[in-house]
Amino acid sequence: MNNKLGLYLHIPFCKSKCAYCDFFSGKATQSDYDGYVGELSDKIKYWSQKTDRALTSIYIGGGTPSVLGTERLCAVLNSVYDCFSVADFAEVTVEVNPESGKELDFSWLKNVGVNRISIGMQSADEEELKILGRIHSTDDVRQTVFKAKDSGIDNISLDLMLGIPLQTFDSLGQSVDFCAGLGVKHISAYLLKIEEGTGFYKNRDRLALPDEDAQAEMYLFAVDRLERLGYYQYEVSNFAKRGFESRHNSSYWTLDDYIGIGPSAHSFFGGRRFYYKRDMQGFFDNVAVDDGAGGDEKEFIMLSLRLKRGLVFDEFEKKYSKPLPDSLLKKSEKYICMGLMKNNGSSLFFTPEGFLVSNTVICDLT
Ligand code: SF4
Repeated sequence: MNNKLGLYLHIPFCKSKCAYCDFFSGKATQSDYDGYVGELSDKIKYWSQKTDRALTSIYIGGGTPSVLGTERLCAVLNSVYDCFSVADFAEVTVEVNPESGKELDFSWLKNVGVNRISIGMQSADEEELKILGRIHSTDDVRQTVFKAKDSGIDNISLDLMLGIPLQTFDSLGQSVDFCAGLGVKHISAYLLKIEEGTGFYKNRDRLALPDEDAQAEMYLFAVDRLERLGYYQYEVSNFAKRGFESRHNSSYWTLDDYIGIGPSAHSFFGGRRFYYKRDMQGFFDNVAVDDGAGGDEKEFIMLSLRLKRGLVFDEFEKKYSKPLPDSLLKKSEKYICMGLMKNNGSSLFFTPEGFLVSNTVICDLT
């Protein structure tokens, strides 16, 4: 059994719904927040009784955790410390949105162990923010970053979106430079996907979206610019200064155990995958849906290939007591010839061009 254990806590509230978002989240009142925090504490206690292992990472995500305000966030974390043992070196992240993040007291959060802040920025262009339906400004991002740093929390991540309607290479470059200028340690850069049920999906015929080729070029442009600024790519969409890779998110890709609490939260624990449905009542009733066994060879290959370091042959052999199937290495040769993958003799990994088509290639390889 792997010793790492992550805890994900989902906060399903947002001040308003962004046009592209299909996360489980919605508007709520202050008393809804109180009720949810109480429920979350009960579930934290319930899950803590299933293990005596120490948590190595805690991630409060959403939705918008920062809408809860400082006191409720501290209460949630105190419930975790009351119930679980937590490793001294644990990474403790809170996701914040700039408009509510700038109101938080980061010193309090630091006092309850928070050592990493992830900020939903998306763009440094005010027009693009409006198109996305975001309710913050670039100045809110700046203020939130400075406030977090002033409190001594230096490990800060910014989210960036690629392929926004009307986005240009110039505006994307400016957004990347803005992040770097703030001296953050980590940047996540996601290509916009139009998901069913979102505002963008309803209006998809009227959106000035970049086509697939332009999206691919934007991705490669961002990878190159980020690397030049010292943010090395360690996963399809994640970039960091050395030593500042997200430990919690990395554990999803290295098949470590994690417990997810909250509607829509997924878990991989004790060899099983399970999740809470996207439904508040189901969560309140503590109905977790079993999603079968996890951690088989195919999953290991798929998840490893999301990482820049790729599929490390020795790690596979150690975990499954057999070498990688020859057929996989044979099939990878054509992708290596196409410049989409590389094999350095000890691992197989995607190039940035390969990451753009990684889902199709992985399907073929496995
Ligand atoms: S703030 Fe985040 S979770 Fe909330 S609607 Fe916008 S994208 Fe979705």
